[in-house]
Amino acid sequence: MKTLGYAAQSAQEPLAPFSFERREPRANDVAIDILYCGVCHSDLHTARNDWGVTLYPAVPGHEIVGRVSAVGDDVADFVVGDTVAVGCMVDSCKECDQCHQGEEQYCREGNTQTYGGQDRVDGTPTFGGYSKHIVVRDEFVLRVPENLDLARVAPLVCAGITTYSPLRTWNVGPGSRVAVVGMGGLGHMGIKLAVGLGAHVTVISRTEAKKDDALELGAHEFLASSDEGAMALAQASFDVILDTVPVKHDINPYIPLLDVDGTLVIVGQVGPLAEPMTVPMIFGRRRVAGSLIGGIAETQEMLDFCGRMNILPECETIAMGEINEAYERMEKSDVRYRFVIDMATLS
Ligand SMILES: [Zn+2]
Ligand SMILES: [Zn+2]
Repeated sequence: MKTLGYAAQSAQEPLAPFSFERREPRANDVAIDILYCGVCHSDLHTARNDWGVTLYPAVPGHEIVGRVSAVGDDVADFVVGDTVAVGCMVDSCKECDQCHQGEEQYCREGNTQTYGGQDRVDGTPTFGGYSKHIVVRDEFVLRVPENLDLARVAPLVCAGITTYSPLRTWNVGPGSRVAVVGMGGLGHMGIKLAVGLGAHVTVISRTEAKKDDALELGAHEFLASSDEGAMALAQASFDVILDTVPVKHDINPYIPLLDVDGTLVIVGQVGPLAEPMTVPMIFGRRRVAGSLIGGIAETQEMLDFCGRMNILPECETIAMGEINEAYERMEKSDVRYRFVIDMATLS
């Protein structure tokens, strides 16, 4: 099946139109006409080879929403016309203990990523959602609740699940005291989801600049980390701190804000941090943890939860041809809070 997308041909070149083939659906495949694709920081890192592992051409995009256009003979759960989503994974071994527990993101063989991966059957490179069509194994296709605004759903399957999964893992619910550090694509979803789960939510940011936005997104309180007095008063007052900052930073000011047995979860920065001090961890049994997206069942649970609560990201819709400009704006954090590509603009 011929399709059209946008690809990076090298780390130095801007993304440009790219024609390629999608496989014919296998017996357990779902073919999808893509309506929208969210723009994640990982897309930008991949296009520019920031992690040193990019294979070119690279077609990014792992926040995909679309309609089923065809299904293989063995597909029972989807029919043509269904509204569906595809996130960061398109396959895994489905045999190991992690896969059996529904934690495919931690598959012992490594999950197959939506782009930059390798198909487990034929070895071909995987191409992501900056394209008109995609073909995906049925078990990795998600259902989209009918009531949600489709133009805003896409970021839920990366930014949404990345913040939802740790909130669920650490049992956030009514009465939980949650702080969210950083207010970009991930952080703004963390606020909405933690509020939706019933937690008391505080946003921590360097200055007061984002206070109004934080409260508008539903946060109950705002804490400026530059305010030493306020930081001292906030010691030992959180059960969970969701750290969404996507660059190297210092977590030492945040650890003492956790109560005994509290956990700071890193979901933004993939790489080094400033050296952490162990004293506040030891004197308070505080934990520093990390978390990677979520399993398929949990991602579906998150979509259904967002459907019931009508939780959606704040999005700015762009045309496919505006992607390079969007990347430049993302590098300056000049987006509220996620770009979503309207794939009807690609032809
Ligand atoms: Zn992502
Ligand atoms: Zn596995």
